[in-house]
Formats: sequence, structure tokens, C-alpha cells
Amino acid sequence: MKSISTALTHGVYHSKAQEWDQHGKIIAEYIWIDGTGLNLRSKSRTLSGKINDVSELPEWNFDGSSTEQAATEDSEIIIKPAAFFPDPFRGGDNILVMCSTYRWADSEKTKLTPANTNFRHFTEPIFEAGKDEHPWFGIEQEYTLFECTNAFTKWPLGWPEGGFPSAQGPYYCSVGATTCFGRAIMDIHYRACLAAKVNISGTNGEVMPGQWEFQIGPCEGISIGDHLWMARYLLGRVTEDFNVGLSFEPKPLKGDWNGAGCHTNFSTQAMREEGGIKEIYEAVEKLSKRHKEHLEVYGLDNEQRLTGKHETCDMDTFRSGLGDRGASIRIGTSVNLDKKGYFEDRRPASNVDPYLVAAMLVSTCVAGSEH
Ligand code: ADP
Ligand code: MN
Ligand code: MN
Ligand code: MN
Ligand code: MN
Repeated sequence: MKSISTALTHGVYHSKAQEWDQHGKIIAEYIWIDGTGLNLRSKSRTLSGKINDVSELPEWNFDGSSTEQAATEDSEIIIKPAAFFPDPFRGGDNILVMCSTYRWADSEKTKLTPANTNFRHFTEPIFEAGKDEHPWFGIEQEYTLFECTNAFTKWPLGWPEGGFPSAQGPYYCSVGATTCFGRAIMDIHYRACLAAKVNISGTNGEVMPGQWEFQIGPCEGISIGDHLWMARYLLGRVTEDFNVGLSFEPKPLKGDWNGAGCHTNFSTQAMREEGGIKEIYEAVEKLSKRHKEHLEVYGLDNEQRLTGKHETCDMDTFRSGLGDRGASIRIGTSVNLDKKGYFEDRRPASNVDPYLVAAMLVSTCVAGSEH
């Protein structure tokens, strides 16, 4: 396979380049969410030395007219570093920097205002208001790998050319060349996350062939967004090296194939303490009253996925259940036995903005942070 040999060639260069002396300088890769709210962009710059705190990182700017974020005549978008991680690809003291986007609010260009998809900025007050409850999030990111042929034909990795694989059943958590497609990508991404200090907690093969999942968390507060976006970036980089396509679409293949979600597991300190199950049921009750508001920010094209089939609850129904994968909210059977823990919101789509889903859960479930 062409893609694998390309990756191996790259690998040799990566490991050699990591040994070359940078003479004290470091490379910072600045990463931001573009105007679609779905894609990441990045560019790099040299800094004079090792960075120990995010406040040491300079602001920067980019051409927002090329990212659906600004007009040509007023094109500058300012990026402010929000969090940084060791760069596993470049190694050494080089870093990956998750940034937030701002534009000029006035024609004199003296005042900044958040750009359209800067949900980190918009949700910060909600996390701040709910922080005494120590909200934790664990997000299960599903994604689909594609044979990277060209921009117009998308066919999942491992699917026969011009035909379909056998029906779903043998693929979930599978092993073997006839059922499992892309393990090397999954594994290198897993190690890249650990090397980057991204809080990854596990991974598994999914129900649709060519589809995978990784889990980020538990992360407290707004950091879930930084870690999940960085994990998505790392996956983009790994799949790029393998010359394999990557999609976070919620229903990449129409028909009798599972969609892709971002199940979001949530708890507060009170839910994690003895008898916390009572708090969990109170939160579910509150969620039942704001079903529509949640769905509005739970991802693009999610209606194609939330059909009531393929382990989802249909859009128009809100239902919770014990160990029920057809419910909107699942409470794990072990949580029920322990009478404490967390619950799983199964509604978010794979392309959801993690800052938004996490903030919505805090806003609905934590008293005093309603927005
Ligand atoms: P599933 O059984 O639905 O496949 P996973 O094992 O894929 O669940 O993912 C569970 C996620 O929940 C993990 O990211 C884990 O870190 C997270 N998690 C575990 N405990 C908590 C908690 N108390 N609060 C929030 N998230 C949690
Ligand atoms: Mn230029
Ligand atoms: Mn899972
Ligand atoms: Mn899954
Ligand atoms: Mn799940």
C-alpha cells in the first residue's frame, strides 16, 4: 500500500530531524479553529527559548480572508494562545499551541472582539460560574478513515473498491485483516496524545468498518475543549502522514451503517460522592426540559444520525435509561449499583464543538451557571 511506505519514509526523516540541534530556539505550532467551526488550521513560528507558561507566548495573527473568518479589506484575525502541549512530532522543547481567535471591533483597530467560532471565549463565563462544582467531562470521539483517492470520491478505509463490505457485526473492537482497518493510525495517534500530555483515556474499533473511537478525559472544566481539539489536531497530522482521509461527519455513509458521535460523560463533585445518584437523576430531569436547546449546539447534520436506529435515540424523543444504548442519556449499570458516578449524554455528533457541549451541560445541570 502506497500510503504506508510514504509514512515509513517520513518516519525516518522525523526521527533524524529530532536529533538536529535547534541552538536554543524552539518551534511553536499555533493552532486555531477556522470560520466553519469544524476545521483546524495551523502555522508555525520560531521562539527564542523554552516556554514554561502560556502567558509567555506572544499573540499572533493570520489572514482571516482565507479561513472564512474575515473580509479581504479587513483580513487580520488575532490569535491568543490558550493552552500549550509538547509537540510529539518535532520533539525537544517544541510545542503545539491551542489558540482563540479575535477580530478588531472598531475601524481604528484598537479593540478586540471574539471571532465567530471562538466558543472558548463565549463559554468561559459558564465554566467560571460552575467551577465550585468541579465539573468533569469524558468525551468519546468517533471518526471515520477514508481511502485518500481524491477530493470527490470518499470511500471508507478497507472497503472494497466499487462494492460494500459485509454487514455490520464483526467490526466493533475487531482483530484481523478482514475486519480491522487502520490500527496503525489509531495506535500512533494514541501514543502521540500521551507524548503531547493530552488526557487520552482509551480507544476502540467501531461498529462501522473503518470507523474508530478515542476517549478524552476526565478533564475538569474548559480544559476538555483544549484537550479534545488538540487530540483532533494530532489525528489530522497522523492521518496526513499515512495519506489517509479523516472525517468527523456524523453520518459519513448513508444507509445501514452506524453514524459517528461524541458521547459526553459528565459528573459534578456531588455526583461523584456517596449517594450522588440522586444528583444524577436531578440533572437528567433538568436535561429533559432543555432537549431542543441542547440539540441546537450538538453538531451539524446530527439529524441524519439521531434516527432511533444504530444505537441512537430519535431527535424528537428524550429518554434516559440504565445501560440503554437507545436512550438520549445512559446511566451505566455500575453507576446505578455504586449509587454515584456520572452519566453519558449520547446525543452530541462527532463534529460538535467540545467547548459548547461541555458548557451546555454545566449551564443546564449546575445551579447558578444558567445562561
Ligand atoms: P462507553 O462505555 O460509553 O463506551 P467509554 O469507556 O468509551 O464509555 O468512555 C467513558 C469516558 O468517561 C472516558 O473518557 C472516561 O475518562 C470518562 N469518565 C470516567 N469517569 C468519569 C466521571 N466521573 N465524570 C466524567 N467522565 C468520566
Ligand atoms: Mn504571507
Ligand atoms: Mn465508548
Ligand atoms: Mn462508540
Ligand atoms: Mn459511549
